[in-house]
Amino acid sequence: MARKVTVVGAGNVGATAAMLIAEMELADVVLIDVIEDIAAGKALDLTETAPLARYDSRITGFTNDYARAEGSDCVIITAGLARRPGMSRDDLLSTNMVIMRAVAREIASAAPDAILIIVSNPLDAMCHVALENSGFPKERVIGMAGLLDSARFCAFIAMELDISMEDIQSFVLGGHGDTMVPVPRYSTVAGIPITEMMTAEKINAITERTRNGGAEIVGLLKTGSAYYAPAYAAVRMTEAILKDKKRIMPCTVYLEGEYGINNLFIGVPVKLGAKGVEEIIKIRLTDEEKKTLHASAAAVQRLVDDMKRLR
Ligand code: NAD
Repeated sequence: MARKVTVVGAGNVGATAAMLIAEMELADVVLIDVIEDIAAGKALDLTETAPLARYDSRITGFTNDYARAEGSDCVIITAGLARRPGMSRDDLLSTNMVIMRAVAREIASAAPDAILIIVSNPLDAMCHVALENSGFPKERVIGMAGLLDSARFCAFIAMELDISMEDIQSFVLGGHGDTMVPVPRYSTVAGIPITEMMTAEKINAITERTRNGGAEIVGLLKTGSAYYAPAYAAVRMTEAILKDKKRIMPCTVYLEGEYGINNLFIGVPVKLGAKGVEEIIKIRLTDEEKKTLHASAAAVQRLVDDMKRLR
């Protein structure tokens, strides 16, 4: 039986994710959006792409018809507003909270066994809304942020060293915001720590650029935020789940004591497989890294507290 992925929000990230899933023939895709016919239009366009791109994944699109999500293995939620210049991710909180609440409830009743991959911002806070309103176990509510932030870190390392993008591995932990925590010690080029290949000043500059990576693109696009890399990151997570690959990736997951953080979604390395989050990998951090991670967690906690006040 073909696997099935529902993508809620047929905008830039959602439609790009749908295209990638089809191109990789990972699953059939159902697109759902609140705007009349937009999901159907994009699904038809992607279906007409199939003979050219040579895929057989079926893509369909619907307006607010959540019954179509029935039987989904994964649901990628991108519904909500995106940033514009001058906005922080946190500025999206009140609007996207209401959207995420409704979407999570709809999906929970239509596809109760699905694994949720949350993309909408502010990411960590939206994961809390999705967990609470879906009623799903924590293993099946996973936020996409660390993989994207790590890809940005990798790209900047490759650009700086003038080397292939292929050989770089990096880790960015923490919340998906200005307080994210790139970890140069665990970032390597073909197994060589980048600390061996770059000066501390260069690494600091790359770390800072990574923290501002989203804003840099918003500043250039002006009418929205990044979507190619975000969509790819969400699809790589989907692939790891659908193929039970047990890949180790930085994902935003609900911590209950790990890393000394309690009852909070935050980015840490996890094992992703058919059951969703199959393990939270505990890596040793220096005191400085711990301090930065806890500062990031405190920023996420403030947003979670703000949401309680907004209710
Ligand atoms: P977009 O505006 O292109 O698309 C969003 C889509 O959601 C629109 O088509 C809109 O009609 C739809 N939508 C709004 N309310 C809805 C609802 N109630 N039900 C169904 N659909 C609804 O935005 P985008 O660039 O695709 O970004 C989507 C979200 O992802 C934003 O919140 C953005 O900030 C976030 N994002 C997160 C990351 C990350 O790293 N986690 C990266 C990029 C974007």
